[in-house]
Amino acid sequence: MTDNSETLKAAFFTLGCKLNFSETSTIGKLLAERGILRAAKGETPDICVVNTCSVTEMADKKGRRLIRSLAARYPSATIAVTGCYAQLKPQEVAALPGVDIVLGSDEKLRMADYIDSWKLTRRKSVEVTPALDITAFRPSCERGDRTRFFLKVQDGCNYFCTYCTIPFARGRSRSGDVAQLVGMAREAAAAGGREIVITGVNIGEFGRDNGQSLFDLLRRLDEVEGIERFRISSIEPNLLTEEIIRWTASEARAFMPHFHIPLQSGSDKVLRLMNRRYNTALFASRVELVREAIPDAFIGVDIIAGARGETPEEWERSLEFATGLDVTRYHVFPYSERPGTKALLLGDAVPQEEKHRRVSLLTRLSDRKMDAFMRANLGRVRPVLWEQPSGDAMMHGLTDNYLRVEAPLVPELINHVSRVRLDAVHPTEQEIIVGSHITL
Ligand code: SF4
Repeated sequence: MTDNSETLKAAFFTLGCKLNFSETSTIGKLLAERGILRAAKGETPDICVVNTCSVTEMADKKGRRLIRSLAARYPSATIAVTGCYAQLKPQEVAALPGVDIVLGSDEKLRMADYIDSWKLTRRKSVEVTPALDITAFRPSCERGDRTRFFLKVQDGCNYFCTYCTIPFARGRSRSGDVAQLVGMAREAAAAGGREIVITGVNIGEFGRDNGQSLFDLLRRLDEVEGIERFRISSIEPNLLTEEIIRWTASEARAFMPHFHIPLQSGSDKVLRLMNRRYNTALFASRVELVREAIPDAFIGVDIIAGARGETPEEWERSLEFATGLDVTRYHVFPYSERPGTKALLLGDAVPQEEKHRRVSLLTRLSDRKMDAFMRANLGRVRPVLWEQPSGDAMMHGLTDNYLRVEAPLVPELINHVSRVRLDAVHPTEQEIIVGSHITL
């Protein structure tokens, strides 16, 4: 790294969830305020910022691989690592080649300060506040692309599901302030944002720590002029209230017919082992309510295959339940053993091969459901928010109910919503619909 801060360039690498992507953008903005600009494509960076994930063993591995490859490719760059892997295993990260700065979750958005002091001392720094001592909420609202912004409204989690390390990596649940978050949404609108994805670790817990309310936040955000679309990135089924569903269906101006609800298992016994706060009956009732209130809503659902305690009988139960649910798409994750989690003490591990078999059965189920949902939408006209063109001739966007559409490029429609007829499933791309513009 050179000493002239005016010429410093940083490259950013993010693994994991939307929250991490949003926070990496915030780090980029904060570094830019100190004169450290984003390295252009192909330019050798002076600083590599790596925002890691630790949701699975594979995520840790990817983090290590990425850091090693950056150290080899940019031997003179300063490597600063943060994120859940850095929080959970700071010494392991610090021992990787080329790593100069390791920051935990609470220090993440103070990266610029740590880089400044690194410039003065050149001493390796490892700064990690224990997760359960983290009390501050650090908001962020960043562009994902030209159309979408990610607004972080909540961080941390108090649920301690037995398989999950997130409460140990991000600390206890804490929320932003409604007025401040609404102000950030207004700034996103002023910067040309059309859609905001509301992000957090356990968004439904919003306000429980500071006496505010998620429903109030949603209603206030809905009034922000210029933002045409909001989506909630994910919400626990026990916290997705009837009030929120009915309001989205009938009163909300800009909240889209799109929900993402983690199920994790369709077996009540496994849900209890996981320490989840609902059973299958509650989950099914939430899905039914969404379907009754908003029949064409996209309902995305996370599910884990091969968790400890998922015996052949419980797996059959889970698959049967998942098959019967009227949802749009499953996001299937193989269960990953995480050191230090309670899940390791619960029941026998499912053999790797059997786990993969279950993943592929659930993936096939998801493909069938997604295909049926896409076909049920064919012939309809839906609003699409257009993104950057994907080539010279075509453009892509998302419908209100989260279907990806491709249509002929009309440059003036980029970053605008227009009405499109959904004509056919794309001949080669499984999850894309080919559409025709009807309002030009
Ligand atoms: S709700 Fe459970 S799975 Fe989700 S972050 Fe909290 S502890 Fe982890």
